Amino acid sequence: MVDLGDRLDIYCRYCKRNLNGVVSAVQDGKVAKVRCQTCGHFQPYQPPRDMKKAKERALKRLVRSHAKKQDNQPLHTEPGMNQETAIRHLWDQETQAANVRNTRVYDVHHTYGVGDFIAHKALGLGKVMEVGANNRLKVLFRDRIAELEHGLPRDDDDEE
Ligand SMILES: [Zn+2]
Repeated sequence: MVDLGDRLDIYCRYCKRNLNGVVSAVQDGKVAKVRCQTCGHFQPYQPPRDMKKAKERALKRLVRSHAKKQDNQPLHTEPGMNQETAIRHLWDQETQAANVRNTRVYDVHHTYGVGDFIAHKALGLGKVMEVGANNRLKVLFRDRIAELEHGLPRDDDDEE
């Protein structure tokens, strides 16, 4: 026989774990409502749960949903790969207008502006994307964005 005020083990839906409770309502000789002694919430009675099993279930759910997410992802997800593809794509677009007449051979002593096409010995055809301080250029090449110097004064002893 259960009485109001009896102590018993409950699963608290607010604390989300097994705790001590107090019977707060009895119906047909059975515990109907309890009060959690930890948080003080009144709630329908739930017997203590097997928390180990519940955790295992939650863990399995997590693993399953993670596996599902991975299946949905595109094949090439490495950040480096994506960037390389993006640069290549951009380069394809940006260098469409380049030709022998408007492309200058890169020379560190020349001065370049945004949008200029340059031909670099090692890096190939590039387009100036940004002109920064300290004689720095950001140039878009086929496989990278490189920083080059420009507009450097010509020294007499500078061999070219
Ligand atoms: Zn509680």
